[in-house]
Amino acid sequence: MHAPRPDRNDPATLADDTLSVHGGNEAHGEGTAIRVPITMANSYRLPYDPSTMDWSDPNHLVYTRNTGVNQVALQRKLAAWEHGEDALALASGVAALHAVFFTHLRTGDHVVVSDTTYEATYKLWTTLLPRKYGIEATFVDITDLAAVAAAIRPNTRLISCEVIANPTTKVADIPALAELAHAHDVLLMVDSTFTPPPLYRPLEHGADLVVHSLTKYINGHGDAMGGAVIGRAELIEPIRAEAMVDVGGVLSPFNAWLIVRGSVTLPLRLARHQASALELARFLDADDRIAYVAYPGLPGHPQHRVAQRLFGDRGFGGIMAFALDGDPALQNRFVDELRVITSAVSVGHDESLIVHVGTSGPRVAAYPEGFRTFGHLRFSVGLEDVTDLRADLAAALDAATA
Ligand SMILES: *Cc1c(COP(=O)(O)O)cnc(C)c1O
Repeated sequence: MHAPRPDRNDPATLADDTLSVHGGNEAHGEGTAIRVPITMANSYRLPYDPSTMDWSDPNHLVYTRNTGVNQVALQRKLAAWEHGEDALALASGVAALHAVFFTHLRTGDHVVVSDTTYEATYKLWTTLLPRKYGIEATFVDITDLAAVAAAIRPNTRLISCEVIANPTTKVADIPALAELAHAHDVLLMVDSTFTPPPLYRPLEHGADLVVHSLTKYINGHGDAMGGAVIGRAELIEPIRAEAMVDVGGVLSPFNAWLIVRGSVTLPLRLARHQASALELARFLDADDRIAYVAYPGLPGHPQHRVAQRLFGDRGFGGIMAFALDGDPALQNRFVDELRVITSAVSVGHDESLIVHVGTSGPRVAAYPEGFRTFGHLRFSVGLEDVTDLRADLAAALDAATA
């Protein structure tokens, strides 16, 4: 058996590193440019007789809220990358999450949600969706499959979780959840922002819809926001029609172009993020001034074996949470002493980012004991030389605890 001949016009024939270079950049038109140019137009020329056209057709270049050259390039790349039929890009990760809920749920529906989710997702489920749309959510420990099964009701339509959860790094067993969801005729939606390809592809393991904050690893350079949802065409088409064309959270052509450009190096970046994260997690874990380190690559992580089964030898992501053994003032002193790592929100950027989160807040009750006692520092390991990062952490630890 021969492997298929690699052809850049057929993404299915390309290995990850080749796809990340050529995906979404197929030669097009008469021109000579070998990159898809930025098309900063909000309208496209109409045919001779436009009077019978569907003005909301999301598959025709008519108006940039329906579709645009750069969004299409990004969407093709994301669909190929996640091994999905279709992809839709929107203005932010939260816009993509809302788009799924807005399109595929209606008043009276029920959802089962992981008790550990991104802050804005939590707010959607606890406040906005119940109050405005009458959609009810039950929060469960997503690693407790019996609890997930028990939470499913006749009107349950969706299970929602993150592969590696922000911020506790709890790992969801996606194949098991998919089996459970489908046995009950329920959709599984997975936020895979912490685990972009080639680390994990939830659609290959039974998820129905995958959501990404493109703002994070996929763009990777801290200079653009975007979100995406990927899955079967029958699930994506209605989202495109309702949440993009009719509600309008469209991604700008410039941001789409930046994200395609940034994503070229994703496999290379991810390999570095992950190797450095594992090394730094071990380094911190071995220091007795550190109260705890939550990173799926450490053998002591509660879902370490699940992570190994899901990710094989492809890594454990580039994000961890930890805290110094002390009070919030100590955590602040430590962050203030860092000279390379930046104190800022977001994750998956080229630069290392750290944020000190305290012990209060609506979700904290569901967090592990260390998080509740000490708060946590969410640490997104960047592309800097790991020797510099380790030295930065060591010097800040010494200075803060002196
Ligand atoms: C950042 C993030 C989001 C939201 O993405 P935005 O692009 O900021 O809207 C959603 N899920 C996870 C896991 C995230 O980290």
